[in-house]
Amino acid sequence: MPLPKIAVPTYTCKLPGTGKQIDFRPFLVKEEKVLLLAIQQASELSDIKQAQTFLIKTFKKVLSDCVMNEKFEINELPVFDLEYLFIQVRAKSVGEKVSPTYTCSCGTPVSIEIDLNDITVVKPKKQKMTVDLGGGVGLKMKYPKADIMEKLVFEAGQLDQMFSVLVYCIDSIFDNDSQYKVSDYTHEELKSFLEELPKESFLEIQKFFDNMPHTEYKGEADCPGGKEEFTLNQLTDFFE
Ligand SMILES: [Zn+2]
Repeated sequence: MPLPKIAVPTYTCKLPGTGKQIDFRPFLVKEEKVLLLAIQQASELSDIKQAQTFLIKTFKKVLSDCVMNEKFEINELPVFDLEYLFIQVRAKSVGEKVSPTYTCSCGTPVSIEIDLNDITVVKPKKQKMTVDLGGGVGLKMKYPKADIMEKLVFEAGQLDQMFSVLVYCIDSIFDNDSQYKVSDYTHEELKSFLEELPKESFLEIQKFFDNMPHTEYKGEADCPGGKEEFTLNQLTDFFE
């Protein structure tokens, strides 16, 4: 006689960026094992890039398997929606409260408690998806999608990585006469286009990134030296 099966609950959340409704189930025991094993295996790999790629792939595969929507493609999500989704699934799988450590401005590490349901994606009131570079030239931008996570692992050096994120976020370049689709140019051609920009134009691009939607949590840390307000906005801040 087959053993009874326990029905797995399903939940729904709305992705803040795309507005898409996602139906998901929590991680199963075997998937938590896969995640924990992947962290362990990655720590044993001497090649850091290989280890990071392996972790990102495993993490996306497990998260994808929890989504019940048909034709769901995790790599099509903007990175901030992926982060939000991960937080939602984790909250329903492991628990809604996490206690990471926050380092107060006085240097004291303080244990803080976060309800994962209170983490939001902050969106600018008006985000312009074009950047004016001056002289009639401009960029049509798009948000970074989850597929850049693995690609970035292989970009050497911090500055190069910043240029790469930029290149992945440009949809097209335009001037008064034409539109140039980035897919028609090589990564190198685009990088040199960006490197040759005047500084003011580059700052305009920076503004686009500063304004990009991101996960955020605001709270107050109870430091022995006095309470301190804090804002967290990196996925890793919520769990470390
Ligand atoms: Zn303090």
